[in-house]
Amino acid sequence: MINLLRQRQTGHIIKLLLYIILGGGMAALPVVIGSMYLHSGMGHVYGVSCVYADSGGGPRGDGSGPVGAEDGRREAKAGDKELEECLARAAALAAGYDYDAAIALLSDSAYAESAKAQAAVSEYRAVKSTLVRADPGAITHIFFHTLIMDPSKAFDGDAWEKKYWQVMVTGEEFQKILQSLYERGFVLVQMHDIAYETTAEDGSVCFKEGDIMLPPGKKALVMSQDDVCYYEYMEGDGFASRIVIGEDGRPACEMRLDDGSIAVGSYDLVPILEDFIDEHPDFSYRGARAVLTFTGYNGILGYRTAPSYVDIGYVDIGFDYEQEREDAARVAECLKACGYELASHTWGHRNMGLMPLEDFIRDTDQWEEQVEPLIGPCDIIAFPFGSDIGDWHPYDTKNERFQYLYSKGFRYFCNVDSSQYYIQIGEKHMRQGRRNIDGIRMYYDLPESGLGNGHLSDLFDVGEIYDRSRPLPVR
Ligand SMILES: [Zn+2]
Repeated sequence: MINLLRQRQTGHIIKLLLYIILGGGMAALPVVIGSMYLHSGMGHVYGVSCVYADSGGGPRGDGSGPVGAEDGRREAKAGDKELEECLARAAALAAGYDYDAAIALLSDSAYAESAKAQAAVSEYRAVKSTLVRADPGAITHIFFHTLIMDPSKAFDGDAWEKKYWQVMVTGEEFQKILQSLYERGFVLVQMHDIAYETTAEDGSVCFKEGDIMLPPGKKALVMSQDDVCYYEYMEGDGFASRIVIGEDGRPACEMRLDDGSIAVGSYDLVPILEDFIDEHPDFSYRGARAVLTFTGYNGILGYRTAPSYVDIGYVDIGFDYEQEREDAARVAECLKACGYELASHTWGHRNMGLMPLEDFIRDTDQWEEQVEPLIGPCDIIAFPFGSDIGDWHPYDTKNERFQYLYSKGFRYFCNVDSSQYYIQIGEKHMRQGRRNIDGIRMYYDLPESGLGNGHLSDLFDVGEIYDRSRPLPVR
């Protein structure tokens, strides 16, 4: 199964870091610290401060220790250590393609004159001069659903098997997809990197194209995961049950094992992606992760946060509704700090283009009242069922559905589209088509399906990804 032991991996990183700090392996430092830094949501170097504090060598002094030459050597050592820390933080920024910040960090530091800092600055300047701006109109967006972690349970012939086969990808398939995307030069970016709202000097608001700068050969990519709710119907079918904050402060998943115990580990897209970026910090542009979308009717992130759970009397069996909402909000905060963008998928998983306007408004209001307080202000909506509130032409912004969603703060609108790119940047919004990566799409890309569509060939070789132990379609 997937590499489940995040804790073990973190321990390994800390050990490696100690080894590096205490004398060897400088070459590995940028990557290791890079991955730790990127996990911090760009705030501080994750875990490093405590590692440094612990690696001081022996008990804390009381101020009456040795004096003279030894003191001088100690000070020099401390200075070296701080310089290395500074270089490592710069390397982490550079690993995420933020060369300006890396250069500024070193140039503004107390070590600006040191040979090592100057060499690093020249290197970052040299790389920066080769960067190419990603065309905001040519950025692929792919999406997944919850990953099947135990295919034997998902494909067990029950009523849900066909649906899982059609719309879901297994954990192992996903890991292979990540590897292929990485090898082909894709780099995760946020939707907010592609275009963003800005206020002009006259106070008017407009959307502006972003400048995503990547080395030649690298390609920007948006990834999303829909329905990150761990619906009730999925219980016992080989999926995680919810996202939690692991002991290391990062997102992990809980999953119920056959013996009834609950394991915590990399049981869905989020922690698997975290593991991957640990190893490949250059898969993430400036800390970007995926977009996660939520309905509300079964709660979010595996927490039963919908008011219906109070109404049906869960409270009577010890279910603490308020605690559930608090926990969900904490996990949402942790995900945002890690670089995830959180989005609406409507309250009731509804077809927002076809449903009566009255229902459309009610659904939108319900999502805003019940889900937005848990995840914070939200400006992205991904429409279920590949529906949309307009045809393929740029939105008519007089369209009352567009106006209603806009009035609720939505600026990014996603439909489903199999084209490689589908981006429209309007005056006050952005619209992007998303490509479904799932069983049905992969199967009909396989030569043995008789179609061999090739829809996914820019992303991966489906013949190498598809798990052929899946049942045949429509069994
Ligand atoms: Zn959905």
